[in-house]
Amino acid sequence: MNTRIDDLPVRDELRGKSPYGAPQLDVPVRLNTNENPYPLPEPLVERIAERVREAARHLNRYPDRDAVELRTKLAEYLTRTAGHEVGPANVWAANGSNEVLQQLLQTFGGPGRTAIGFEPSYSMHALIARGTGTGWISGPRNDDFTIDLAAAEKAIAEHRPDVVFVTTPNNPTGTAVPPETVVALYEAAQAAKPSMVIADEAYIEFSHGDSLLPLLDGRPHLVISRTMSKAFGAAGLRLGYLAADPAVVDAVQLVRLPYHLSAVTQATALAALEHTDTLLGYVEQLKAERDRLVGELLAIGYEVTASDANFVQFGRFADAHEAWRKILDRGVLVRDNGVPGWLRVTAGTPEENDAFLDAVREVKKELN
Ligand code: PMP
Repeated sequence: MNTRIDDLPVRDELRGKSPYGAPQLDVPVRLNTNENPYPLPEPLVERIAERVREAARHLNRYPDRDAVELRTKLAEYLTRTAGHEVGPANVWAANGSNEVLQQLLQTFGGPGRTAIGFEPSYSMHALIARGTGTGWISGPRNDDFTIDLAAAEKAIAEHRPDVVFVTTPNNPTGTAVPPETVVALYEAAQAAKPSMVIADEAYIEFSHGDSLLPLLDGRPHLVISRTMSKAFGAAGLRLGYLAADPAVVDAVQLVRLPYHLSAVTQATALAALEHTDTLLGYVEQLKAERDRLVGELLAIGYEVTASDANFVQFGRFADAHEAWRKILDRGVLVRDNGVPGWLRVTAGTPEENDAFLDAVREVKKELN
């Protein structure tokens, strides 16, 4: 007989649970995981090969444990693009922002502690909480998916969480959170505990608005989480980073595994950062395509949630999963995040977006 997970002495909170992950189906048009549709440009591929070749000469040694060169370049990128000066002491990097968030919850959450997020939001926040033994509190949103500030402040005062997640722009809805709302949530969190506030800015480069980075001034309990998976078109690289008070960077050293960021990863990320301007050019194209998707979806007769990200939430469907299946039948994979009535499409190339729009035009007729 095959042994099943639940036959093993796994932790109680993992029993009966499924691993996170969108279906990786082999279909012509994949617009389901908010990836950047543009492969890295050839000169960058060459540069990565060069830097990795050099790194390979030293693979008998452990990598720079503190990733100082990479953190310096990431700090320069943030300073240049967010109009707020940060240095390497403010920046920390790990294997994807998921690992950054995990390190933060290992440091500031854990058994006997709680984290709150305002849902629907990025479901890994709750799962990383579970994986680190942190209790999860599901906070509310308004019907239009903006944060209901009064209800959020009330929930923070009542539950006194150790960690507050604010995802801006939010996934899966695309909703940006105004800086004044983040400030109010920060103040509520300080009054209640004080707790750490993690602003997940995975999609900020696609936003109409600015990064929250300037809010770091005088707010040592605020952490901004970023990734190279989206704007830098490097989801396969697995490079996430945070900006915060240097004390936060010192604190996560207590839980990070030594040499967690391989020399190959550091070399590749450094090469990508040399090509920032080209990559941000793709971001501009994707923003235009995102806005085109919004306009066309509205013209077809769908409802759309205002988006500041590289994806668009659209609906409403009596049965979102049925609609998801019908779109898939037409060769286009979008995401059913389990938000009743809504689906999410990632902005792809103009051709991919056209294929998606053709599919949803047909589906709209079929479902009416
Ligand atoms: N935060 C949000 C809001 C996301 O949507 C994602 C990816 N889907 C991540 C973090 C994690 O990204 P990565 O680990 O690739 O940096």
